[in-house]
Amino acid sequence: MSNIIAIVGRPNVGKSTFYNRLTESRKAIVDDFSGVTRDRHYGQGEWIGKTFTVIDTGGYVHGSDDIYEAAIREQVLIAIDEASVILFMVDVTTGITDLDDEIANLLRRSKKPVFVVVNKVDNTNLHIEAATFYSLGLGEIYNISSMTGSGTGELLDEVVKHF
Ligand code: GDP
Ligand code: MG
Repeated sequence: MSNIIAIVGRPNVGKSTFYNRLTESRKAIVDDFSGVTRDRHYGQGEWIGKTFTVIDTGGYVHGSDDIYEAAIREQVLIAIDEASVILFMVDVTTGITDLDDEIANLLRRSKKPVFVVVNKVDNTNLHIEAATFYSLGLGEIYNISSMTGSGTGELLDEVVKHF
């Protein structure tokens, strides 16, 4: 398989919401619970005539931060291995958390293209807040709202250049 986009990030940042938007699939479970057991979901997407597979990573279990950390670490390592492009999703409403830093450290070692996607930027005021994510040290950031779709076109324009 080629043209694989993996969406990684800690729980509740909006990965499944974005996945649903990309794949227009209702199969991925989106809910308001943090830490609900969810599997990886694979779907097909298309942008300006280019088709791709999207992986929504989840599968987190209830438990301590240690368990979260181990599960997320595993998902990130799988993504680095099997994806052609990695979308690292973070949440403008929480800022950078310890888990975000951990994930950033794993992704830094990846030779695959990594896009920092700042989600929940639902209005223009939040663009200023979003700039703090440059300090993750992973280069350019892409502000989007998975809810409204704002910014998603600009992100996909850049992503599909790798296909
Ligand atoms: P996941 O755990 O990373 O897959 O996150 P979900 O997609 O399940 O979303 C977690 C919560 O964030 C849900 O309540 C979503 O409705 C909400 N959410 C997702 N995207 C956005 C967004 O762009 N803006 C806002 N305000 N909320 C969002
Ligand atoms: Mg999810």
